[in-house]
Order: sequence, then structure tokens, then C-alpha cells
Amino acid sequence: MSDSEDCRYTLERIFAFHDGVLPQAEVDEVGAHLMGCEGCLDAYEVERVMRAVIKRGCNVEAPASLREKVRASLATA
Ligand SMILES: [Zn+2]
Repeated sequence: MSDSEDCRYTLERIFAFHDGVLPQAEVDEVGAHLMGCEGCLDAYEVERVMRAVIKRGCNVEAPASLREKVRASLATA
């Protein structure tokens, strides 16, 4: 498999990897690829941070200023 095919394979599975719904064999492959590929590791980190923010957003009251910003961006979307 070429590098780019490896990357595509990994990126297609990043969501399932995070959700913990990936078969163990594929978890091993994705994990091994992330160890050696900075680009995919970045994508993995972005996904991880996004989820942490979303999770925190559910539990903690967002500051009013942020709420306004989100509401404004939703209104213009
Ligand atoms: Zn990669």
C-alpha cells in the first residue's frame, strides 16, 4: 500500500476509531499509521479536540459572549 492509500484508509476510519466502533484489527492498523504519519496524527488531534469541546459544551454553561457568537453565526449560516 502506498503512503497516500494508507492515509486515506486511516482518515476514513478516524471517526469510527474515536467512537470505539472500529474492529480491533483496524484499530491496530490505524494506530500504527498514526504513530508514523504526522498529517493523519494532526487530523486525529483535531477530531479529538473538537470532541472534547463539544462534550464540555454539553456539561458546562457557555459564556454569554460565546453563545451570542454562536447564535450570530447560526443566523447567518
Ligand atoms: Zn497518513
